[in-house]
Amino acid sequence: MKLVVASGKGGTGKSTVAANVAYSLSRARDVVLVDCDVEEPNLHLFFPAPATEVPVTTPVPEIDADRCTFCGECGRFCRYGALAVLKDRVLVFPELCHSCGGCTLVCPQGAIRETPRTIGSVRCSRPLPTLTLISGVLNEGEVQAPAVIRKAKLLAEGHPLVLYDASPGIACPVIETLEGCDACILVTESTPFGLHDLRLAAEVAEKLGISAGVVINRSDGRDDPIVAFCRDHDLPVLMTIPFDRQIAAVQNPGGLIGRELPGWEERFVELFRKASALQEVRS
Ligand code: SF4
Ligand code: SF4
Repeated sequence: MKLVVASGKGGTGKSTVAANVAYSLSRARDVVLVDCDVEEPNLHLFFPAPATEVPVTTPVPEIDADRCTFCGECGRFCRYGALAVLKDRVLVFPELCHSCGGCTLVCPQGAIRETPRTIGSVRCSRPLPTLTLISGVLNEGEVQAPAVIRKAKLLAEGHPLVLYDASPGIACPVIETLEGCDACILVTESTPFGLHDLRLAAEVAEKLGISAGVVINRSDGRDDPIVAFCRDHDLPVLMTIPFDRQIAAVQNPGGLIGRELPGWEERFVELFRKASALQEVRS
């Protein structure tokens, strides 16, 4: 089972839900939790533990000055502005390169070869005997978040139960995280912004053919617009977490309500059960 926890916007409590589900499930079985929010990974804060680290590299062009005739083909081809051909040299801006490999193919002189460049890392730890945490980390100033996410997902490949915490929003990193997954939990809050962004996230899941259900977080009881939207779009509301002083007191310093408040471990296990059933409904 590959389950993604996502949200159309930041600050909805997506990572908190992912961490609570992972913790609650790990009380009875092996779980892999993958932090795909690679620009701002934070799941390690819920589960501090020593980690091993592997670098993530992507290929970038290197110009052979002896072969290059400065014809300009590569510069004209690169739509990301990563190459500038001057009259006596070619400038490469690696941080703009998306590693498409096209410049290597179009060079008539065979003057371009690819060399690996480190853009981030993936950290693996085992904070609990039954919980493995894999965190993708994109280096500051880098743009290739999907490459780091792919590597993090690869390390979790083959495990029977994997939870992915996606980046907020609906951009490429979220698509990369959702690819190949079985079902998706969309975390929202009962505000007009929450509804707007839930709508976008639900559209993305639908376009990718991934079954989704909704968690309403920090509910103040005025959830009617969200509930109506979910009803109209066949999105089951899987769980509602109230806006509650006791919950905030646990969560604000980084605690897990599944661990610290009675009854919540069972509720997060039930959330997982319902989310798993979404996949079965579709198939
Ligand atoms: S396409 Fe090849 S030969 Fe032409 S400028 Fe680029 S590296 Fe040089
Ligand atoms: S690999 Fe693609 S993105 Fe990178 S410099 Fe070459 S053409 Fe541009």
